[in-house]
Amino acid sequence: MKVVLTNIGTMISGDWRQPFIDGDALVMDNGRLGSIGTVASGDIDSADLVVDAGGMTAIPGIIDSHVHITFGDYTPRQKTVGFLESYLHGGITSCISASEIHVPGRPVDPAGIAALALAAQRCFQTYRPGGMRVYAGSVIMEPGLADAHFESLAAEGVWLAKVGFGAFAKPVDVTPIVRSAQRHGFKVMCHTGGASIPGSAPITADDLITMQPDIAGHCNGGPVALSDAGLERVVKESTMALQIAQAGNIRSAALTIRLAEANDQFDRVLISSDTPTGTGVMPLGVIKSLTEMSTLTEVEPERIIATATGNCTRVYDLDAGLLKPDMAADVTLIDASQGCTQSDALAAMRNGDIPAVAAVFSNGIPRFIGKSRNTPPPTRQLRITKNKVLQQFKEEGVHHCC
Ligand SMILES: [Zn+2]
Repeated sequence: MKVVLTNIGTMISGDWRQPFIDGDALVMDNGRLGSIGTVASGDIDSADLVVDAGGMTAIPGIIDSHVHITFGDYTPRQKTVGFLESYLHGGITSCISASEIHVPGRPVDPAGIAALALAAQRCFQTYRPGGMRVYAGSVIMEPGLADAHFESLAAEGVWLAKVGFGAFAKPVDVTPIVRSAQRHGFKVMCHTGGASIPGSAPITADDLITMQPDIAGHCNGGPVALSDAGLERVVKESTMALQIAQAGNIRSAALTIRLAEANDQFDRVLISSDTPTGTGVMPLGVIKSLTEMSTLTEVEPERIIATATGNCTRVYDLDAGLLKPDMAADVTLIDASQGCTQSDALAAMRNGDIPAVAAVFSNGIPRFIGKSRNTPPPTRQLRITKNKVLQQFKEEGVHHCC
């Protein structure tokens, strides 16, 4: 499918160093982004679908780097069906598993842990609920995992791991296992701050600095934050990604942004939801945090948006998160919500108002156009100016069973 967006008011790249893109149009062709900025008339002639964005703002599809998936589009923690499709209606086109810890009766022995991660990775390889791409299969670190487990899982394409729930006497006892995983190319996320649920343990700045995971998961607490001094040490004494979560402490989240700015470390900042959890199912979790950080800190919204787009590209080596030719064709259109006192999406965010999500394209396929079921409607209107698509939009290449 070839889709062209025209008459875009503002294009945000996802790269905080150069957040704005000149021009007003872009092409999505067979799942990849094509020209960005200007579009040749030949592209419009050959397009299956042309959407006039009416002056709205285009951003890369949002990436939620901390989601507690299990199997299918279901969360046992909050007993909710269809939550991933709902998150797509919050502008999110990719989710990264923060481990399948919520699977009822999840195994704790090494063979079972490895099998769970591999099964989750496989189950989401082509399955996209509502169009959502899910990076699944995160190894839950427990005693007994050995180098050979990571070697064989890496060979099968598993690349995520999570520290924070294992039966270790002291949190830092996991450190040799973290090194094994990193040797085999795993991105290791570690719980940060106070305990999350009964049975989990607090993880301090000292623990993190000893462990050196790749990502300090919810560094503003999930839900209870580190001390401010501890957070400052993690910023200054490590290179790990600083992942802010909606489900954490909002004051600590703003402090993370300010510390990263003051120490020239903005590349490391990620904004995620850390849901579904006790905080609930939050389809607008990421866009709400992006808005909160845009209004509570001095950093401009076009740069804050990079924390859930281009910064994820860098930290996780993804092919999504940037409006750039050849990247995955994941695009979200946002605008000031109807009735907002501000004139466009960025001004709305600066003012503290969650923008309207007006359309989402993932893998180059329109998932909805006009308005999200989870936000207010936009101020501006989208217009479909050409449509050769004869049937309902759906994922291509997905096998449907009887
Ligand atoms: Zn979590």
